[in-house]
Amino acid sequence: MIYADHNATSPLRPEARQAMLDVWDMGATNPSSVHTSGRAARGVLERARTAIGGAIGSRAEDIILTGGGTEADNLALHGIAVALDGKCTFLVSAIEHEAVTKAAAHSGARVQTAYVTPDGQLDLARLEDQLAGWDHAKFGTPVLCLMLANNETGVIQPVAEAARIVREAGGLAVCDAVQGLGKIPVNVGLLGVDYLSLSAHKIGGPQGAGALWHRAGAPLKAIVHGGGQERGLRSGTENVAAQAGFGAAIDAAIGDLPKYAMLARYRHDMETRLEREAGVMVMGKAADRLAGTSNFAKPGFAAETQVMAMDLAGVCISAGSACSSGKVKRSLVLLAMGASDALAESAIRTSFGWNSTPEDFAGVADAWLDAARRTVLKETA
Ligand code: PLP
Repeated sequence: MIYADHNATSPLRPEARQAMLDVWDMGATNPSSVHTSGRAARGVLERARTAIGGAIGSRAEDIILTGGGTEADNLALHGIAVALDGKCTFLVSAIEHEAVTKAAAHSGARVQTAYVTPDGQLDLARLEDQLAGWDHAKFGTPVLCLMLANNETGVIQPVAEAARIVREAGGLAVCDAVQGLGKIPVNVGLLGVDYLSLSAHKIGGPQGAGALWHRAGAPLKAIVHGGGQERGLRSGTENVAAQAGFGAAIDAAIGDLPKYAMLARYRHDMETRLEREAGVMVMGKAADRLAGTSNFAKPGFAAETQVMAMDLAGVCISAGSACSSGKVKRSLVLLAMGASDALAESAIRTSFGWNSTPEDFAGVADAWLDAARRTVLKETA
């Protein structure tokens, strides 16, 4: 089997697995307990927090451990809305993950869209126009929500530039870095954002572990109340084993950054072959992209047909479109980039990661061309 769906979830790294087994072998591990076993658990948790903070250039104490990326995004958006008493407007980029768009929609605050260019990057000139002469009394604090890298196209966003624009307008910036972490260098100081969300399972850590970084002093209130863990900002006993796995995965991913960057070379060969032999259109190709992500379309070849054909050939990929309640929706990300319906309906996402090999890229191209020759290419031959 070839696994080319790392942006959905990445296989568990051996280092993360071992770190979790070590915690489970410790016995009882409530890090809030004051006895010996509790203190041992606290030590493991704080080492994980230090690894997570270190990976993004943050102090450990500014990291709030959460149950994944979705929860981190929700804590940021709802936590800001509560702290600002609803007096804010979320400027949500048109390509955000639903964890952000839906959290904004349910926050009770106003929401505006921040538009992207046809390359799939935030349109900075339009953002500047949107914020020029911002009426703070009417719209409250502008809060930009811009991801670091898009989960469908891999397009890397101009986060530092956008954060500067919003800061100059007296606003705040939230960055969902779930897809960027462990694939490109991430530094909260250089990005200049106020909040940054992370998830373990996209980089070979376990599912259900994540974190929210927030700048000291940035407005944030708890949305889950209880025992007061995580400095009162996220009550509930921490998942020590999962966070230990996250810490180990993040250390390994940072060490592997040069190896990950090499994937661009194999992706180039794969895309060049698909363009030449089948005339596919690569989405977001003109922009900087995550080295392991390739989203391409062949109008007339339905995305779900491609996913099924590839699965039969032993290759795991995703449709560029999201599937909900049995209905396949066209990708909102691609439509926001101005793609036609025909392109958006035929786009698939291949994503490679820490254990991908050059043979995986070649295997994806072989399987895809084989499926295409039996369907669309035959008709046009
Ligand atoms: N944000 C982005 C950009 C994602 O790609 C994902 C997962 O697909 C999430 C947030 C949600 O993360 P999690 O699965 O850890 O809740």
